[in-house]
Formats: sequence, structure tokens, C-alpha cells
Amino acid sequence: MLKILLLGNETLKKTAEPVKDIDQDLREYTQQMLRAMKSGRGIGLAAPQVGRLERFFVCQVEDDEPRVFINPEIIRTSPDEVIYEEGCLSIPNLWANVKRPSAISIQAWNEKGRPFTLDAEGILARVIQHEFDHLNGILFVDRLSETQRKRLIEQFEKRMRM
Ligand SMILES: [Zn+2]
Repeated sequence: MLKILLLGNETLKKTAEPVKDIDQDLREYTQQMLRAMKSGRGIGLAAPQVGRLERFFVCQVEDDEPRVFINPEIIRTSPDEVIYEEGCLSIPNLWANVKRPSAISIQAWNEKGRPFTLDAEGILARVIQHEFDHLNGILFVDRLSETQRKRLIEQFEKRMRM
């Protein structure tokens, strides 16, 4: 099982590199990521979270099929923003309200190497934006106010010591 890196690990702060080849190795890796994601009861997981600094992530929302986004670009964000509670497998069992655009359009390649464009709203738009941030070394705590971020990090560190 792939090991998920936790808050404080420097890799999580780094910008990931574009994927060069969408091959069998990458396909198998995305399957392993989906397994790690599900075993942690997550709905999204980005490659940097398992120590692979490349631009791809997986997600599966509710009864939807699993989705793979390789070399994604968010090409449109809605002007209206919504507040939604987020968590992260790299910051287990802690949640906070984060404000983000309510809808987005994303362009990416799937695990078969086919390009696609997807318009997403609701929880899917939320997961995509959260995972996309991971590719740029951004965690959801970085989108909170200074006070909120400090409080959350303190809670996380306290739990890690227990
Ligand atoms: Zn995350």
C-alpha cells in the first residue's frame, strides 16, 4: 500500500513536474493511489501526497466512477464562491471551511492518454480544486486565515504526539 505523506513533509510544499508518458506503469500507479485513497476513506489523492512529484491526481466522489486527471489545467472558474468543509488525507481527521469557486472547467488527460474537458460543480469541483492545489504545493490549510491555520496545525501536531 502506498504511504501517504503527512503535513510537515517538505515534499507536500513542492511544485510537481508534468507527466511525460502515460503508460502502463502510470496506469497501475493510479490504481494503487485509488486503493490508498479508499483505505483512508478519502475522495481524492494527488501524486505528491504519496511522494511522486508529478502532475496527476485521482478522485472518486460518491457513486461516481473513479477519475484520473493527468497534467490538468483549470481553464475556467466561476465568479461565485462557496464555503465547504474540507479535509485532507495528509492532515487526517481535521476539517475546516474553505471558500472556493463553486464551478470549474478542467482540461486533462485520462489514464488511457485521452485528452478531455470536464465542467464540474458541487463536491466534484471542490475535490478537483483541492487536488489541483497539491500539484502546486498548496494545502487547504494554506487557504485559511493565519489564525485558523495556526490552530489547525497545532491540533494536528498535538494528535501526532498522542
Ligand atoms: Zn489533500
